[in-house]
Amino acid sequence: MTMRKLIAGNWKMNGMLAALDEVAAIAETAAAHPAADVALALPATLIAAAAARSPGLAIGAQDVHARDSGAHTGCLSAAMLREAGARFTLVGHSERRGDQGETNQDIWAKAVAARRCGLSVILCVGETAEERDAGRAARVVQAQIEQGLPDDAEGDWLTLAYEPRWAIGTGRTPSIPEIAEIHAVARAKVRALLGDRSGAVRILYGGSVTGANADEILAIADVDGALVGGASLTAAKFAPIVAAGAATAV
Ligand code: PEP
Repeated sequence: MTMRKLIAGNWKMNGMLAALDEVAAIAETAAAHPAADVALALPATLIAAAAARSPGLAIGAQDVHARDSGAHTGCLSAAMLREAGARFTLVGHSERRGDQGETNQDIWAKAVAARRCGLSVILCVGETAEERDAGRAARVVQAQIEQGLPDDAEGDWLTLAYEPRWAIGTGRTPSIPEIAEIHAVARAKVRALLGDRSGAVRILYGGSVTGANADEILAIADVDGALVGGASLTAAKFAPIVAAGAATAV
């Protein structure tokens, strides 16, 4: 199935209040390309101000706690993020799997909590370099989907992002056939798990996407958009990727 492309930015731990001008510029870019969906996962400190200043842009969070409230110092619940203006959250980003040791079970619980509070979810999956070298990339991604996907998942609130860990922030990307292979594997797994409800689940590619490679990557079958880190930090770098997403829309 061909779907509208989703081009999602992930600002990671970047951006002070002064960067709201850049968010507004990205909102203008999004408005200029209505054939693509555009979203921005911001540091939590910017969500409320960005949502107020750019109400037309889908602003989201980069992580969420699995519990609704309680003794979890430094954490934020889905309800808090939603109240601040977030419409979605990433879960399972590889930097959290790596730096915070998040497991598939943790990520599943976060996705369930987000869904319960009305946040859409971008569930990130992807193999390490060692796993790819050992020929295990497809199996790792299948397991991450199987264990991270809530039972009642469906396309109106769920997006997957395939992000090979070794491609994030490195300037290295898999070959086009390698991306196509894992996206086909991910699509088949989502279909096997969700059946008819899998139709609208978009599968994004993430890992060193730039204006220079976006056209080629977004043209791959089963690539329904991109999750973009470094190249989403300025409207100037993000705009060509958004334009590529709009151009490949059918
Ligand atoms: C990411 O943070 O999800 C990401 C893909 O980063 P980059 O585009 O910088 O590789």
